[in-house]
Amino acid sequence: MPELPDVEIFRKYLDTTALHKTIKTVQVFEAAVEARADPDAMPDGFLLPRRREGADCPRCGGKIEKIKVSGRNGYMCPDCQKRQ
Ligand SMILES: [Zn+2]
Repeated sequence: MPELPDVEIFRKYLDTTALHKTIKTVQVFEAAVEARADPDAMPDGFLLPRRREGADCPRCGGKIEKIKVSGRNGYMCPDCQKRQ
C-alpha cells in the first residue's frame, strides 16, 4: 500500500473524530428519548439531572457552576468543559 500524504492522514483523522462525535450525539439523544426527556430518569452520566449550582459533576466530581449564555442560564463543569 502506498504511503498516504500528510493531508490524507489528517483528513482520515478528522473523519474519524467527526464520526465518533456523531455516534456519541445519537447515543445521547436515544438515551434522552428512552428517559422520555425526564431529567430524573436520565442516565447518571448526564448533566441534566444535575443542573444546579454546586451539584457534583458526573464526570470528575467537581462543582457545577451556573453561567449566563446569551441571556439564558447554563450549567457547566469548569474542569471538564474548558473554553476553546
Ligand atoms: Zn467535571
